[in-house]
Amino acid sequence: MRCPLCDSLEDKVIESRSLAGGSSIRRRRECLACGYRFTSYERLEDKQLMVVKRSDRREPFSREKLEKGLEQAVRKRAVPQLQIESIVNEIEEQAMLQARAGNEISSEWLGDRVLDALYNLDRVAYVRFASVYRNFTNVAEFITEIQKITSWRGAPGVAGPTHEKRQD
Ligand SMILES: [Zn+2]
Repeated sequence: MRCPLCDSLEDKVIESRSLAGGSSIRRRRECLACGYRFTSYERLEDKQLMVVKRSDRREPFSREKLEKGLEQAVRKRAVPQLQIESIVNEIEEQAMLQARAGNEISSEWLGDRVLDALYNLDRVAYVRFASVYRNFTNVAEFITEIQKITSWRGAPGVAGPTHEKRQD
């Protein structure tokens, strides 16, 4: 596979992992020219994981899109790229388990997984993503969200974010 960093085609597989009952395989690779490590995925063509939007439109699940969304949320925050990648991996694995034979997950489910991950990772990034994802239309909604975050802290018995339905 072509190294994303130096374009060399020589690499070695350092780890293979079977996902979702063997319908997908994740391979961790290392470029033999520059040592850069990257991940490749292999899945059966008819097993393409689809994301169902609230409008009922479907689009293929995209790691790149997920990664971009996360990167935007953590912009200028001290979050290492490796951590982003491991969140993407984790969400993709959860998605494949969630989808099972149907090969479909809802965009809402996916957004909630991202919110959960960001909530644990970085509160600023969480609010950034939430403001886009939930389409806050006014300052009041934004403040309500901030208040929710601050009240979860140290409030025993409060079980994390309740992700409200999003209007597409
Ligand atoms: Zn390379």
